[in-house]
Amino acid sequence: MHQPPIPHIDSADPQIAGLIHDEARRQAQKMRLIPSENYVSLAVLEACGTVLTNKYSEGYAGRRYYEGQQFVDPIESIAVQRAKALFGADHANVQPYSGSPANMAVYLAFAQPGDTIMGMALPMGGHLTHGAGVSVSGKWFNAVQYGVRHDTGRIDLDEVRDLALRERPKVIFAGGTAIPRTIDFPAFAAIAAEADAVLVADMAHIAGLIAGGAHPSPVGHAHVITSTTHKTLRGPRGAMILTDAEHAKAIDRAVFPGLQGGPHNHTTAGIAVALKEAAHPSFRTYAAQVVANAAALASALTERGFDLVSGGTDNHLLLVDLTSKGIGGKPAANALDRAGIELNFNTVPFDQRRPLDPSGIRLGTPAITTRGLTEQHMPQLAAWIDDAITAAAKDDDTTLDNIAGEIRDLLTPYPIPGWSPQP
Ligand SMILES: *Cc1c(COP(=O)(O)O)cnc(C)c1O
Repeated sequence: MHQPPIPHIDSADPQIAGLIHDEARRQAQKMRLIPSENYVSLAVLEACGTVLTNKYSEGYAGRRYYEGQQFVDPIESIAVQRAKALFGADHANVQPYSGSPANMAVYLAFAQPGDTIMGMALPMGGHLTHGAGVSVSGKWFNAVQYGVRHDTGRIDLDEVRDLALRERPKVIFAGGTAIPRTIDFPAFAAIAAEADAVLVADMAHIAGLIAGGAHPSPVGHAHVITSTTHKTLRGPRGAMILTDAEHAKAIDRAVFPGLQGGPHNHTTAGIAVALKEAAHPSFRTYAAQVVANAAALASALTERGFDLVSGGTDNHLLLVDLTSKGIGGKPAANALDRAGIELNFNTVPFDQRRPLDPSGIRLGTPAITTRGLTEQHMPQLAAWIDDAITAAAKDDDTTLDNIAGEIRDLLTPYPIPGWSPQP
């Protein structure tokens, strides 16, 4: 059942309670490899389920538009202090509702509709909010987009520089959702300085690795840093923006009153708790293990003939081009889910297929590392992925179901915070 128990939902709304219990069991029994997901601690779960959700707190600590902030003010101030201390930043804003609104606040702070902005193209590994045509970032701004090199699968910094100097964007985003390699923040900073642009590092995927010393930090290189709090950082769904002293006021004004009303105080408390956990020495061990597991999985998959974009990984994430396996990313992801392995289909750079039926799958190790899996498990995991993809090509559901059973057995000694097999 769900941990902590939810007896009041069980009795007040058994239909929703039942679905929550089912989802908790699903999360316990699956090999969860979606690289943007994780398992938060019980302490974070508890913080998010408190009376803090009852309170309106428009404004910032000490400057609110509602009375009764005696306890919310220190909660938000502690979250801000912890974010600044963990990353060594001058300023932190922990109010953005999620990663996408955090990026919208950046545009509101530093660009006008119609201005040129620059980011990595979505099919190359960027995020929707970095200028994709279907996003407001691509509709309201003149978005110029960079990609990766065909031969290396890595960000083409020559292209970034050429584009930046030619197009003169107000804002340059560095970061993305499907980048398996270290991001060179000093190189981006040099380009942004030359082009006189605001450099924004969007570290949503890698914030936990940066906090744990497993990826170089953008602090001191980027003017503004946006991040979700729920990916490798292992906090509740939310976001924050770090800035240097110069860009602090513009960001605060953009988040409130520019874009949002009242902050989600229960989430702020959860972020504060997660930031305390991330400052603990054990989080460094976690971050290093996430990377070690991804490297071990990458070499095990490569040995089995899988084609990894960029040839491997430096971080938590792997992007696999399935073209050589003769199966699309979508049917593969679908079969893997039946086999108890949860990941997502994804475009690969220069994809010849359609975005809704692309050539790749994206997977990562943040969640399984939280459960305690290590390098020793990765060859078996690669074997299951291989067998499931072979079975998918033959419509062999029996094999898929057998793998799901084996995975449930393997995971039984690695419980999750959030579910217990005992009723
Ligand atoms: C996840 C992500 C976001 C958006 O976060 P949401 O909370 O889903 O809005 C923004 N940028 C990057 C790079 C991301 O990976």
